[in-house]
Amino acid sequence: MYQKSALKTILWVSLLVLPFTLFAQVVSPEQFLGYKVGTRFTRHHQIVNYFTAVAAAKPDMVKLIPYGKTNEGRDLLVAAIGTPENIKNLEQIRKHNLGLVNGTVQDLNQPGIVWLSYNVHGNEPASSEAAMLTLFALVDPTNNETKNWLKHTVVMIDPCINPDGRDRYVNWYNNAVGVQYNADPSAREHMEPWPAGRTNHYNFDLNRDWAWQTQLETQQRIPLYQSWYPQVHVDFHEQGYNEPYYFAPAAEPLHDVLTPWQKSFQDQIGKNHAKYFDQNNWLFFTKERFDLLYPSYGDTYPMYNGAIGMTYEQGGISAGLGVIDDSYDTVTLVARATHHFTTSLSTIEIAAANRDQLLENFKKYFDNSRQGTVSDYKSFVMTAKNPNQLAALASLLKKNKIDYGTLSNAQLKFRAFDYYSKKEADFVNEGYALVVNVNQPHSVLARVLLEPVTQVNDSNTYDITAWALPYAYGVHGYASKQLLPTTPGFDVIATTPATSTYGYLIPYHSFATAKALAQLLKHNVKVRYAEKAFTMNGRNYEIGTLVVLKTSNQPNWSDITKSVCSSLNIEAVAVQTGYAEKGADFGSPDIAIINHAPRVAMLTGEQVAALSAGEIWNFFEQQLNYPITQLTYTQFNRIDLDKYDVLIAPDGQYRDLNSKAIADKLQAFVRKGGVLIALENAASTLAANSDWGIRIKETTKEEKINVQQLVQYADREKEYLKSSIPGAIYKTYMDETHPLGFGTNGIYFNLKQDRILYEPSASAWNVGSFRKDSYVTGFAGMKAKQALEEGVVMGVKQIGAGKFIYMADDPIFRNFWEGGKLVLTNAVFLHGK
Ligand SMILES: [Zn+2]
Repeated sequence: MYQKSALKTILWVSLLVLPFTLFAQVVSPEQFLGYKVGTRFTRHHQIVNYFTAVAAAKPDMVKLIPYGKTNEGRDLLVAAIGTPENIKNLEQIRKHNLGLVNGTVQDLNQPGIVWLSYNVHGNEPASSEAAMLTLFALVDPTNNETKNWLKHTVVMIDPCINPDGRDRYVNWYNNAVGVQYNADPSAREHMEPWPAGRTNHYNFDLNRDWAWQTQLETQQRIPLYQSWYPQVHVDFHEQGYNEPYYFAPAAEPLHDVLTPWQKSFQDQIGKNHAKYFDQNNWLFFTKERFDLLYPSYGDTYPMYNGAIGMTYEQGGISAGLGVIDDSYDTVTLVARATHHFTTSLSTIEIAAANRDQLLENFKKYFDNSRQGTVSDYKSFVMTAKNPNQLAALASLLKKNKIDYGTLSNAQLKFRAFDYYSKKEADFVNEGYALVVNVNQPHSVLARVLLEPVTQVNDSNTYDITAWALPYAYGVHGYASKQLLPTTPGFDVIATTPATSTYGYLIPYHSFATAKALAQLLKHNVKVRYAEKAFTMNGRNYEIGTLVVLKTSNQPNWSDITKSVCSSLNIEAVAVQTGYAEKGADFGSPDIAIINHAPRVAMLTGEQVAALSAGEIWNFFEQQLNYPITQLTYTQFNRIDLDKYDVLIAPDGQYRDLNSKAIADKLQAFVRKGGVLIALENAASTLAANSDWGIRIKETTKEEKINVQQLVQYADREKEYLKSSIPGAIYKTYMDETHPLGFGTNGIYFNLKQDRILYEPSASAWNVGSFRKDSYVTGFAGMKAKQALEEGVVMGVKQIGAGKFIYMADDPIFRNFWEGGKLVLTNAVFLHGK
């Protein structure tokens, strides 16, 4: 009895108190989670719960902005934090800020916007822990300092950009750690298994994806970012646990579009951080290693969009809850989170103190952009025979808010820098033209993405140094110093083909047409292709043209063909005869047939490069929309390869690819009619086995060194750079008469990241090769350039009834290298009889 009524009383009291504890009191992360931040890893949903609880307790100061879900269904959100007045006027503040970008407002009467992005790399997890501390410090009623800062800034916190990667790491770590963490660096808990938590679901590095937006997380986050455009953006990372903390100012190379203000404000922020780090005797470094060049990072992308963009790096990858470092100190998660928390607050402090200057310079940045003073080139023109080649590029520009149009006068004559010849030349309109003028709000980003040569000083860099979109998309570019008259927009008009009872011709020229090929095969439509050009009804059809005929196809072949082509906005020409006026008739052996959809598999898991495997997985699932089976390489001996027609071996560090058992199995697969596509290191590893019949080009000549030429120790970096090639563009001459080269027009711009080329082979089709003039742009050291002067980059060797296709480089780099997508699709599908 007594117990019952006591329980009743407790229930009544709880019901009365609960609303207050839930809605009135804001609690610290420690109170909410039940442990001090950093003493355990917080799983992603708990972080979301904490943010939700704080927003519920402080609705006048915190507004949650959910922006989507990850591939694995986790929540993506940003919290906007401000004074009650600013949160009430949040939408007005946002619009006002956008007015500075678009030039529709002149006054600077608004708070500055500071955007803090945590945990883009999942296994750099200290920062999401710090995000909770930062949130609490901003709403803590006893903290007068932050209250004061919020009068001048609205803070946007994205607690975790990559929740799938974070939970992959955290769940694994929780699984591996014992009752007490083990600080011994050799302990299992400091050795993360494949694939590490750094990347997202598809093994993509989200800190390389800001501009390209190939990944779901980025596709949902960037539109939110673009609806704000903050003045300050910080991307929080971790590096190896033996490193101290890194913060701005950034290292060289710095892109020369960065303004003196952007650079000097990085200095100011760095000095403010240094003050706090010095007070605590925490070591740090600045101006080294982390450059500002490649446009798709969480620091450069904001920089090229008017913000002060920065990367902060705590030493901590693989440290778990604690690990002993090289100086025999224990690096703890508590300390790592504290350091990120310190720089978070220091950033907000300095931004608040300099609000006026931040806004003034932000406005100036976009004023200059709209006037087009940020670029010597005033118009970039891309031209192609077919609109689909340009449409893909237009869609990327659109994702980045870069305005584009077409030439107002298609016959316009002008001279401009020609991306192909790398000289001034007369513009030749190949049929369609896409134009980007630099007098627009996002002209800095437009210039960085489109200019033919990126300004790089001879210095080391963390990433590729060349990405000019006309090359990456394989279209002919011109850069003009005159502003060209332009009509806004570039649309490919969807054409519904006329119905045919005989067949359709699909000109083959771009990744859009390659997708159509994959889709038709997936829907069990048999597709033929022309191995020679032909003429029909007075029109010339180039080599590679797809031919879909009623003959040998299922009853709904015509509807499927029409719907696939119109959904991809590509042309399908209805024909009623197999008689060609010139060239092969459809019954000719020069018209090959692909009689079934190839069953495609790829190697993955240990020894395979996670990024490369992820690119292929994502490419098939999300871009080609074609099924692929992932095979665990370490279980290779148990797999029956007869079930597959095509096997892709991505880049990797394969230890036993040439062992007798595996080599025999691969050879048997190919001899029986299989297609083996080996990329990068998979190809170069196989080359060591003479059965595959390819040889890596010898490049290292033993040089005699005499004492007058000894390299000084201090010059070791310079010496290293002579052989380095972080990522440069090379013109590849393609044999467009070979199916691997179909649709390329004989040229493919290859992103070269190493010095490997193959010897031309008399027994293979040397489809893609470098010649003396192949180097186009990007940093390549003197020795690297010499090594790459001539050689084969991709080839096809017939072995028995099958084919071995080898590619020295990654054709679909980060899934934005549009030109290579066509080539890879050719490699997978074009093996007709
Ligand atoms: Zn990182």
